[in-house]
Amino acid sequence: SPIPDYLTQVLDTCGGDTSGAPADYIPELRDADPDRLGVSLCTVDGAVYDVGDTADEISIQSVSKPFAYALAVIDRGLEAVLQKIDVEPSGDAFNEISLDPATGRPRNPMINAGAIAAHALIDGDNLDARVERFREFAGRLAGRELTVDEAVFASEMSEAYRNRALANLLRSRGIVEGDPEDAVRGYIRQCSINVTAHDLSVMAATLAAGGVQPLTGEQVIPPRVNRQVLSVMTTCGMYDAAGDWVTSVGIPAKSGVSGVLIGALPGQVGLATFSPRLDAHGNSVRGVQIFERLSDDMGMHMMEAP
Ligand code: GLU
Repeated sequence: SPIPDYLTQVLDTCGGDTSGAPADYIPELRDADPDRLGVSLCTVDGAVYDVGDTADEISIQSVSKPFAYALAVIDRGLEAVLQKIDVEPSGDAFNEISLDPATGRPRNPMINAGAIAAHALIDGDNLDARVERFREFAGRLAGRELTVDEAVFASEMSEAYRNRALANLLRSRGIVEGDPEDAVRGYIRQCSINVTAHDLSVMAATLAAGGVQPLTGEQVIPPRVNRQVLSVMTTCGMYDAAGDWVTSVGIPAKSGVSGVLIGALPGQVGLATFSPRLDAHGNSVRGVQIFERLSDDMGMHMMEAP
């Protein structure tokens, strides 16, 4: 197949850019090797192509958000979730205090406020049960058992003042109903689950395939929920660069501060890149470049007629 050769060529052209910097607010991420680079592509029929550092484990961070939102909607139903979390792009940074003044609802589930609220809506009697439910769900999407990186978790908890503030605000408005500290701990454990770029392209391909995991054939996400998740990724997935992303790349996507980036093109492919240096918006510099190249070369912009 010419696909691995093509992906290798793309990595060669984008690989030399060492601009940007790894996230520094989580010590464990700040100190990780910034030169690693990988791209993985998984078709909706389950063919996976890996080039570069696609077997390196890295915490999933904000790429967990669309999947946690999916699980909250599966567990509570769309109406109940919409009452707590809106679906409007905020144009704000990921950790902005972006709550609707009238209702207290976070603007969307892709920023931290909305993601903490979504995590708290996952079924489970306590914090451990919710995290376990999410970990099991993410494992079904990836097709293998995933684990929490305890060092990353501890590292992020030690600096989680802002996320604690968000959770307390959400509690004060009744958006989070239980203990806000549990909501923060659970959300950060969710973000600390280790994945590889290979895992992420399979997870993204599940979204591209209407919620059917392409390797196992299991319908992990019901079609209507899957559509909801892809829509929110399209409008809100790339932090405050979402509009730029939709116009230039045109693939529903989500990035995370560990340098991971997924894209899901409905009916076609799931894509994932891993490169830790981030731009001013918090998106992976080389990840964005790789997506721009793939979108251009392969005509993957969703607004392009086939
Ligand atoms: N766990 C990180 C946080 O809440 C995730 C941020 C991200 O990847 O955007 O700050």
